[in-house]
Amino acid sequence: MSEESTLEEVVIIGSGPAGWTAAIYAARAGMKPLCIEGENTQENWDLGRPPQGQLAITTEVENFPGFPHGDLSEYLKSSISEDRQYMLSEHQKAGASGPELMELMRQQAINFGTRAITEDVVEVDFSQRPFKMKTSSGQDIQSKTVIIATGARANYLGLDSEKQFKNAGVSACAVCDGALPRFRDNPVVVVGGGDSAMEESDYLSKFASKVYIVHRREEFRASKVMAQRALDNPKIEVKWNSTIDEILGSDEAGVQSVRISSTEDESQTEELEAAGYFAAIGHTPNTEFLKGHLEMNEKGYLKWTVPFRTNTSVEGVFAAGDVADDNYRQAVTAAGTGCMAALDAERFLGVDTHNW
Ligand code: NAP
Repeated sequence: MSEESTLEEVVIIGSGPAGWTAAIYAARAGMKPLCIEGENTQENWDLGRPPQGQLAITTEVENFPGFPHGDLSEYLKSSISEDRQYMLSEHQKAGASGPELMELMRQQAINFGTRAITEDVVEVDFSQRPFKMKTSSGQDIQSKTVIIATGARANYLGLDSEKQFKNAGVSACAVCDGALPRFRDNPVVVVGGGDSAMEESDYLSKFASKVYIVHRREEFRASKVMAQRALDNPKIEVKWNSTIDEILGSDEAGVQSVRISSTEDESQTEELEAAGYFAAIGHTPNTEFLKGHLEMNEKGYLKWTVPFRTNTSVEGVFAAGDVADDNYRQAVTAAGTGCMAALDAERFLGVDTHNW
């Protein structure tokens, strides 16, 4: 990589709630952050990792503190720059939508002086300082500190009908979407057999009339306690040894039913009436470009190496949000660790004795 680029104080890679919160704090601390927010390509959207992260592909966000039910139109118009208004889709104005929330966070970071580059980072060199990064257009960037906030993407089975009905009954986050009106007092389907599937089913059973868990084996992977809670729940019915064939519905109504078949005998199929389909088959962290550069766990999540800090295995490189968290995975927890990462980077620079 070339040595000619200017030396940044902090580069933030990723632009979800973790990335923009880190940017807000870093900018207010005078660190002039540069945020590499991800490239706006069809491939990134199809993979579930667009600029502004997972919230860019959700509808309402009812659980982010500070955004209660209400019409935010005027606030959005006055807060978000005109050139970004096109990012805000028509929305029923019942509170903040995911894309609106992200545009507000982005604008807040920009207002404090954050610079944004709408590209991916394709190469990093953290083996020596300053840290070096190359973007998708070939731009070389150098920085004293780096905050990784590239998030994670939900795994889907890969069915065309999952794409067709995304945000029209298909979701990978019951906690985010489960209380929406379309699921209330209607049956829903959850696919998976891990703790997420148990937790999501239990949560959904508060709103839905019935929850089907469709699992490919005859035994759950989930912890005993969580599996038992799901099995004891009278609203939950498990379809063992079953796989999802197709999600059925219409453009107007969204998801209406789910066709499943037996993993033991494919000829045995069943159509379950359902207003929703929730994928709970795990997440994949967006860390492919970091392999070999930072320590990760067996699933590819970055390791936080100091308790209650956002340090990674390389001094001066920090991680925030879902890229290092396969447990909480909420917008507000991502924002929280984004704030922590900016403070950690600021303190690191404050005691840094490296001769730049
Ligand atoms: P997970 O433990 O990896 O479980 C994924 C489940 O999806 C498995 O049952 C797996 O089936 C199934 N699956 C994967 N690919 C599939 C496919 N292509 N078709 C059909 N089924 C498929 O993931 P997770 O449940 O998201 O949990 C991730 C981590 O977070 C775990 O460590 C979990 O303990 C933790 N977590 C904890 C809590 C909590 O404690 N409150 C809540 C949620 C998650 P097989 O079993 O057949 O492989």
